Amino acid sequence: MPGGRPGAWSFALSTQRTIMNDHRRLGRELGIFDTDPLIGSGLPCWLPAGAAVRKAVEDYVYELERRNGYQHVNSPVLGKRELYERSGHWAHYAEDMFPPMRVGGEEFVLRPSLCPHHALIYRSRQRSRRDLPLRLAELGGMYRSELSGVLGGLTRVRAIQLNDGHVFCAPDQAAAEVSAALDLIEAAHAQLGIRAARYRLSLRGEGDKFVDDPGMWARSEEILREVLKERGRAFDEERGEGAFYGPKIDIQIADPAGREATLSTVQVDYFQPERFDLRYTGGERPVMVHRSVIGGIERLVAHLIEVHGGAFPAWLAPVQAVVLPLSDTERPAAEALLRRCVAAGLRAELAPADRGSLGARIRAHRLVPYQLVVGPREAAGGGASVRRRDGSQAGDVPVERLMEDSRPSFEI
Ligand SMILES: [Zn+2]
Repeated sequence: MPGGRPGAWSFALSTQRTIMNDHRRLGRELGIFDTDPLIGSGLPCWLPAGAAVRKAVEDYVYELERRNGYQHVNSPVLGKRELYERSGHWAHYAEDMFPPMRVGGEEFVLRPSLCPHHALIYRSRQRSRRDLPLRLAELGGMYRSELSGVLGGLTRVRAIQLNDGHVFCAPDQAAAEVSAALDLIEAAHAQLGIRAARYRLSLRGEGDKFVDDPGMWARSEEILREVLKERGRAFDEERGEGAFYGPKIDIQIADPAGREATLSTVQVDYFQPERFDLRYTGGERPVMVHRSVIGGIERLVAHLIEVHGGAFPAWLAPVQAVVLPLSDTERPAAEALLRRCVAAGLRAELAPADRGSLGARIRAHRLVPYQLVVGPREAAGGGASVRRRDGSQAGDVPVERLMEDSRPSFEI
């Protein structure tokens, strides 16, 4: 490490930590994701271990939303250019969008956000006051035309799988919905083992990137600011970081080098309901609360890799249990146990004796939460001696119990 200048020691430490837990290095090592120049930069593929983590996260957030009044929808990843002209993206966000594709006499755009589709799903039915709040959620693809130079690993990508949701509510319900969204975000962070670096109230900046309607901005800012104060949250206010249609509460995370990014967000929007002429009983205009509990899956998993150093909580681990027969004699019993683990819903695999000594196999699977050792006694009884990742012994634990311990909690 270069030394001799002030701060060199702390520089060396933080650099070392950065290299240790860089999600790009660990992500490849753990088989989470990879990229290929033939597909293109910023377009990673999820390898089996990564797809397993991603599915666990998706299932968790889907269930968290379902238990909290959300209905899930699915919508296409592209739409006509006119859709984005109507939503305001074309005027305020075009530089981040892929250029249109011409098909026949029409132009289609890969969507830069899910909001317009959800606004049209709201509009597809008559809505009355008693239907509100209507909470729609979707884990869907969106696209950003980032330049190759700024792309890296899972943190800056061109294809994002976003955990998105929109609450359509009456104006007097908006504050409660913002607060409820923050409840979900905080519960998810606790479950995922994530600590927010800070909360940011992101406001309008100068220029035509932002819709010019000062009264509208003031109203939505006031709601977000009040909710944050009521929850006793410390937050910073920053100009120029808002969405083009409204202010946001951004929950910032930091990587080991201290670089910040937005993970979760809650936004109050009066603009798009007007652009899409959304109504409920008596011609009233709903408010749209945009929220993402865990942000884009790519950025989230990059952060999880760095936070946990690959030792994911049991419910997230790509492999939750490894079955280790002491010798070839116990292999049939170990295979039977593996089948029971898989049938019970565990992500499990076998590490047979021909892969080395028991100690070597345990070391090779040191990130796996449960190591199930099958010796002659366990083989006779049909069970295993369970060793946890930290080296502690759990004894003869039934498979069903391991499965129970590998479920996330949905408590708010
Ligand atoms: Zn939105």
